[in-house]
Amino acid sequence: MVTIYDTTLRDGTQREGMSLSVDDKLRIAARLDDLGVHYIEGGFPGSNPKDIEFFARARELALSNAVITAFGTTCRKGVPAAQDEGLAALLDTGCAAVCIFGKAWDLHVTQALHATLDENLRMVRESVAYLKDAGRRVFFDAEHFFDGYRAHPAYALAVCRAAAEGGADAVVLCDTNGGTLPQAVARVVREVAEALPGVTLGIHAHNDGACAVANSLVAVDAGCTHVQGTANGYGERAGNADLISIVAALVLKMGDDCVSADQLRLLTEVSHFVAETANVAPNPHQPYVGASAFAHKGGVHASAAARLPEAYEHVDPARVGNLARVVVSELAGRASLTMKAAELGIDLTGDQAAVARVLDGIKELEHRGYSFETADASLEVMLKKEIGTYVPFFTLESFRCIMEKREDGKVMTEATVKIHVGGHRFIATAEGNGPVNALDGALRLAIGRFYPALGAIQLSDFKVRVLDERKGTGAVTRVLIESDDGEKSWGTVGVSENIIEASWEALVDSIEFGLSHPRSDVRTTTRQPNV
Ligand SMILES: [Zn+2]
Repeated sequence: MVTIYDTTLRDGTQREGMSLSVDDKLRIAARLDDLGVHYIEGGFPGSNPKDIEFFARARELALSNAVITAFGTTCRKGVPAAQDEGLAALLDTGCAAVCIFGKAWDLHVTQALHATLDENLRMVRESVAYLKDAGRRVFFDAEHFFDGYRAHPAYALAVCRAAAEGGADAVVLCDTNGGTLPQAVARVVREVAEALPGVTLGIHAHNDGACAVANSLVAVDAGCTHVQGTANGYGERAGNADLISIVAALVLKMGDDCVSADQLRLLTEVSHFVAETANVAPNPHQPYVGASAFAHKGGVHASAAARLPEAYEHVDPARVGNLARVVVSELAGRASLTMKAAELGIDLTGDQAAVARVLDGIKELEHRGYSFETADASLEVMLKKEIGTYVPFFTLESFRCIMEKREDGKVMTEATVKIHVGGHRFIATAEGNGPVNALDGALRLAIGRFYPALGAIQLSDFKVRVLDERKGTGAVTRVLIESDDGEKSWGTVGVSENIIEASWEALVDSIEFGLSHPRSDVRTTTRQPNV
């Protein structure tokens, strides 16, 4: 069985323009765990405080498959492993597994590190042994391995051997520059496997030559049993090997059971979840999981594909949780919606008419730019509206936002809301550092006294994406809000051509959801305020 090692949270975040908060990273880790990934590299504790916070909070995550792994480098030149601060920081994370990288290309050792070739071998061997002695699982990333092997195979192999002698649980061959072709990867991995019998080998490929997935798969074929990559192939330059495609290929085409059939069905959902959380538009043409990955076009082909899918589809889309759009799949849609509703505590099994209405509603909303992948709470509010169990906590008469830029450079925003609660009308005004903050403040002033649970609800994250301009209308803005009450967190979505209106929509869903699921220590929320 191939070990799947995810580095979305470390190498993936090197992607230009991508930044993940600690909360984002924790949410992504939980979903990768659902998918059945074995190791999740959380970050580089020696390099930044955000990663240290991640490791501290990751201890609270109840993961069922994955082991959180800390990343770092070997001890420094001339420093014994036991006195190296970087290695100490790795141990301080408390992670059961650690991964360290070291140089495998002699050119880098002498020209970049300015160390002797023997000193580099000492650093690798001693660092791995030190971490092993501390009781950790240790992976060794042989940096620039393929380029190093081409230049000086005996030395690149000696580095791997040093890591193996130190006790490494896997020696990972890295194509750091990403330009090696599959033919070379296959040959080199075979030679290394022959030279180092009994050593567990891994592959870490970058996509500069558009071959990262292919390189990872041929490496497995040639003897690697540990594969490193990132969700959706995120990573610097042209990206890392895309674990989404790799996992699908391993299970569906190479007969490997790295994840179960049930876990594989989460592939599309997890891929989109990571994209939305990273605020990167999901690629509709991404193999296996893209919205267009199984969308057939052209009359004859489409109807033939519907009649005889195996003749036109390389795998059954349902196995990776995707849908063939032409086959549509009224049935698949119904079943997954009923399941999703059950997860949210809403029983739809007896109401097929409601299911059809909701499906139509979702299709229409998605067309307008909504996305429910990270907005379960909005989905719940929408479901309740459709099946008639929705009781609003308040109704809006109007809101108004004023922004003022002052002479001293300060920007002030003021919001006024007119709200009806239990037959009474309230007007409240609040200031804030931006329109959402001000609206949130005004809304709380207006209804806070009726709903004690509101005090615990806070907005923890706010993401804005301008969606493509659609024909005939202007650009549409999608706002995603993440909220929590210290016990749980939930996501909501709003879409409008106006960013403030989109924000208001996501804000209202967030508060509706928070009030209908109050914290366990808050008194049951009353819907009939007695004024
Ligand atoms: Zn890398």
